[in-house]
Amino acid sequence: MNTFFIEFRDPLFGIIIFFVLVFMITVSSYWWSKYTNKEKIKSLDKFLKDLKQTPSVEEMQNLISKGNLSIKSWMLLASLYSKNGDFEKSLDIYNELLKVDDGLNTRELMFLLGKTYFKAGFLERAKQIFLNILKNNPRTPEALKYLLLVYEYMRDYDSAFEVLEPLDELEHNIELDAHYLRAMRLINDDTMDMDAKAQQLLDIYKHDGDLTYMVFEYIFRINPELAWKNFDGSKSELLVDILWSLDSDKLDLDIISKNSFLKELYTARGDIKEVTKSSVFELDVLINLDTKSNATLSFEYICDGCKQIFPFAFHRCSSCHAIDTVGVELSLVKSYYRTDSEENNSFQ
Ligand SMILES: [Zn+2]
Repeated sequence: MNTFFIEFRDPLFGIIIFFVLVFMITVSSYWWSKYTNKEKIKSLDKFLKDLKQTPSVEEMQNLISKGNLSIKSWMLLASLYSKNGDFEKSLDIYNELLKVDDGLNTRELMFLLGKTYFKAGFLERAKQIFLNILKNNPRTPEALKYLLLVYEYMRDYDSAFEVLEPLDELEHNIELDAHYLRAMRLINDDTMDMDAKAQQLLDIYKHDGDLTYMVFEYIFRINPELAWKNFDGSKSELLVDILWSLDSDKLDLDIISKNSFLKELYTARGDIKEVTKSSVFELDVLINLDTKSNATLSFEYICDGCKQIFPFAFHRCSSCHAIDTVGVELSLVKSYYRTDSEENNSFQ
C-alpha cells in the first residue's frame, strides 16, 4: 500500500497523467470537430437542395396567407425571380400578395405586376394594370412611362402619343420620345410610299439631329443616293456598320475621298487604295493585310446609357429603355463568307 502511495505521489506519475489527459482531450476534440463539420455539411446540402426546389403555387399561397414572411421580403423574392427570367413565379407572388394586401402596398404591387407582365411579353395585361393604376393615380410618371412602352411595343402609336401629354404636364422632357414615336410610326406605316417616308424621316433628323442611326439605317437601305446626299461626315463612326455593309456600287466615292475615316474604312474593305494606315486598330490591321487574309469586321452595340452590350443594333435600349443611345464597337473576326467563297471556288 505504501509503495502505491509513494508511486502515486511521484512527480513522474503526475506528468504521465497530464500527458494522458492532453492526449485524450486532443483526440476527443478532433473527433468532435470532425462530427460537427459533417453535420454542418449535411445541413448546408439540405439548405442548398431546398433553395433549388422552388415552392409550388399552393405552397406559396399557404406561406403568403400565413404571413410568416413580410410583404417586402416576398416582393424581394419576386423581383429576384423576375431578374432570373422566372416571370411565372414572380407573377404568382405578386398576384397572391395583392389578395392579402391591406391597401398599404397596392399601388407598388400593381406597378411591379404590370412591369413583370410587360417583361414577360403579356402586353395587353400590362396595359390593363397600368391603366388601372392611372385611373386612381393619374400623376404616376413611372406607370405613364411603362404605358408608353406598352403602346409602342403594341405599335399603337396614337395611344402612345396620348400618354406623352400627361408626361409633359409632369415636366418630363418628351421631345425625343415624340420624335422617336413619329419615326417609328413612319417606318411601320405600310400604306406610305418608301421615298415619302425617307423624306419625312430626314425632316425629323434635321430638326434636332436626333435619331441619326435610326434614320440613316432606313435611308441607306431603301435609297443610298438620298442617304449620301444628306450624309454628315462627323457621324461616320456611329454609322460604321451600315457603311461597312453597303454594296460597292452604292458607294459615293466623291464623299468618301473627302472624309479620312471613310477613306480608311473602304481601303480596309478593299474598295479603294487611298490610305496606308489608320488610327483605328481594326482598320489598320485590315489595311496592312491588304485583303490577303480572311479577316473582316464584326460589330457589337453598346448602350451609352446603361453600358449594356447587344449583338444587334437598337433604337430604344431594351434594358434601360433610353432612346438613341446606340454606340457601335468594332472587332476583327474570321470572315466565313470569304472562306466559304474560297472553298467553293476550289471545287470548281
Ligand atoms: Zn441602356
